[in-house]
Amino acid sequence: MMNRNTDSLLTLPTPCYVIDQQALTDNLTLLHSIEQQTGCHILLAQKAFSAYHVYPLIARYLSGTTASGLYEARLAHEEMPGKQVHVFSPAYRDEEFDELLNFCDHIVLNSLSQWRHFQEKAQRHPEVSFGLRINPEYSEIETDLYNPCFANSRLGITPENFDEAALEGISGLHFHTMCEQGADTLERTLAVVEKKFGRFFDRIRWINFGGGHHITRPGYDVETLLRCIERIRQRYGLEVYLEPGEAVALNAGYLVTSVLDLTKNGMDLAIVDTSAACHMPDVLEMPYRPMIIGSGEPGVLSRTYRLGGPTCLAGDIIGDYSFEKPLSIGDKLIFTDMAIYSMVKNNTFNGMPLPSIYLLKPDSSTELLKEFGYADFKSRL
Ligand SMILES: *Cc1c(COP(=O)(O)O)cnc(C)c1O
Repeated sequence: MMNRNTDSLLTLPTPCYVIDQQALTDNLTLLHSIEQQTGCHILLAQKAFSAYHVYPLIARYLSGTTASGLYEARLAHEEMPGKQVHVFSPAYRDEEFDELLNFCDHIVLNSLSQWRHFQEKAQRHPEVSFGLRINPEYSEIETDLYNPCFANSRLGITPENFDEAALEGISGLHFHTMCEQGADTLERTLAVVEKKFGRFFDRIRWINFGGGHHITRPGYDVETLLRCIERIRQRYGLEVYLEPGEAVALNAGYLVTSVLDLTKNGMDLAIVDTSAACHMPDVLEMPYRPMIIGSGEPGVLSRTYRLGGPTCLAGDIIGDYSFEKPLSIGDKLIFTDMAIYSMVKNNTFNGMPLPSIYLLKPDSSTELLKEFGYADFKSRL
């Protein structure tokens, strides 16, 4: 059960994020076993989770990290030494590329023109492996905001725009077309990738299946994933890379908040000291309804409240939740699955404080990793 040892969180000053070391380790153990069984390489996509205090732990289980640009790549280089650093960006700046060449193992480019632009520099770095992102024009994602294959997408080279001559100096292909999906989606996607790009596979050494693999979700079909990886390895002799973000820290963190006020307007309202807009922006962007330990869907338990943040934004609403007992001012609430796409996306809109970051250890003790204050707000403006 997720909340086996969350009681100790109720004593922490709020708002705070808490990384659950045991839950993270459980995820890493599963990912590591996939690497071991198939010989593939699994990388943490840092854009989902960059809490580098636990990089030493992650480094014990995964092959390395991938980055969305220079800063994430540099963070991995500094905080996960000795592990692979990969990077993909839709377009690199010249200075950025120069720096990346010094510490990246793989650099993936998004277009043939980017490759032509950087090819000469690349040739001076035989220790770096270069790849191209392809767009197989097949994705099962229904929200355009998260679909790299929607019409006129800038992400990846379509079959129509691919040119075999460009493979000179290229050692891998990369696709990223999934989001929170199962291995059945991967299997169907791979069939399309092979059909449209398979004729180039004898010219490359590796293929990167991107992220969006919800491997650590209960019920994920690991057997199908293993079969997909093994088939590509055996049939084409390619090294396989996966770069999940979500799956690494899925259900491995919390956001603890306190009730600041209780009011009414046609229903019970609660204002808490955390903001959807600032501290869990995906609640508004995806959108989705985070879970709170001990709560139910609206109307299920005896008292239903609409929870909102302390900002000026009318839509800073976290969602409707029911509770067994009426809430009181000062009560603490624990949102679950708050490790991913939370700390990396938060902001200080309205001058909101950034939540501190704690680590929940397997023995249920907590350790403060990071605390923020007024200076963090002021220094960015
Ligand atoms: C977002 C992204 C990932 C990680 O995706 P998750 O959904 O967090 O697993 C990996 N690779 C690329 C290129 C991405 O854009």
